Amino acid sequence: MSRFFSSKYAGLVPYVPGEQPRSQEFIKLNTNESPFPPSSQALRAAAEAARRLNLYSDPECRALNAKLAEVYHLAPEEILCTNGSDEILNFAFMAFCDADHPAAFPNVTYGFYKVFAALNGVPYEEIPLREDFSVNVNDYVGLNKTIFIANPNAPTGLALPLADVERLVKGNPDSVVVVDEAYVDFGGESALPLVHKYDNLLVTMTFSKSRSMAGARLGFGAACKALIADLNAIKYATNPYNVNGMTMAAGIGALEDEEYTRANCRAVMETREIVTAALREMGFELGDSKANFVFPRHPKIDGRKLYEELRARGILVRHFDTPLLARHNRITIGSREQMNRLLDALENILEEC
Ligand SMILES: *Cc1c(COP(=O)(O)O)cnc(C)c1O
Repeated sequence: MSRFFSSKYAGLVPYVPGEQPRSQEFIKLNTNESPFPPSSQALRAAAEAARRLNLYSDPECRALNAKLAEVYHLAPEEILCTNGSDEILNFAFMAFCDADHPAAFPNVTYGFYKVFAALNGVPYEEIPLREDFSVNVNDYVGLNKTIFIANPNAPTGLALPLADVERLVKGNPDSVVVVDEAYVDFGGESALPLVHKYDNLLVTMTFSKSRSMAGARLGFGAACKALIADLNAIKYATNPYNVNGMTMAAGIGALEDEEYTRANCRAVMETREIVTAALREMGFELGDSKANFVFPRHPKIDGRKLYEELRARGILVRHFDTPLLARHNRITIGSREQMNRLLDALENILEEC
């Protein structure tokens, strides 16, 4: 840290992204990327758009918003596209949280919420999950704080039914509730239809996981027009051209190829069920994930140790060094072939311990 770094960031602990190894030798199951390439329509559209890189991208994102509106049955004014959904989450902390409106989220969830709260000087409450890692909605009803809920949750993979999400939104009529649906396409129930019913709900989604576009950085939020207008105020005060032209075009291309996305999601879900059963067979304990990852632990081996043994065998998974999660690893669902390699490696490791 230099002597010039503002003291307001003295306590800031930045988010630590999963490792992106430079070598290709690893089977990468550590950052929930898709094992499938982007849609060929997305790739063609991005290449075409690259020819207009001399121009600024459309700050209003009109063409992409129109396409999203069509696919998700929303009005274009109910949508805001961002540079990954991380950006709209940060915008939500900027727009809807302060000392009078602290944030609240589960004590086990997406690690970035805490970082955004700290970055924006927002006080926050971490609400403990139940022992089985499920969210107890009763803890959130009448909370009067700006609530951030990942559904399905990360890194647990567990999902709340839509009725519970609605109870939470309804139970906090004077607070914004942000439902982060980064993984919803892998078996969760989306709260999107509720944005027409509640003026305090913001649903965020991403193209990073189900649409194989993590590197393009494209996310969006859906909410009533007034909430989107607030978020737009933050966007135009931060980075009006937040989504680049190639990414916008790729996004439209992907949305014109929804069957491809759906087929890939089905494949991931099928593989997840096979892997879940195989892991249980080996003595792993894990919940029923509705995401593109699983979160197992094994009574015989510590999470850190398992992470290291897998790494030594060329397989990267994500381990979180916190007391609550130390026994677990988050493992992305890759291709069938990658998962077979994973299961072989796990069998080998368990035989040795
Ligand atoms: C991956 C992820 C995101 C954001 O991803 P972007 O690539 O920024 O769109 C948001 N929330 C959760 C829970 C995630 O796992």
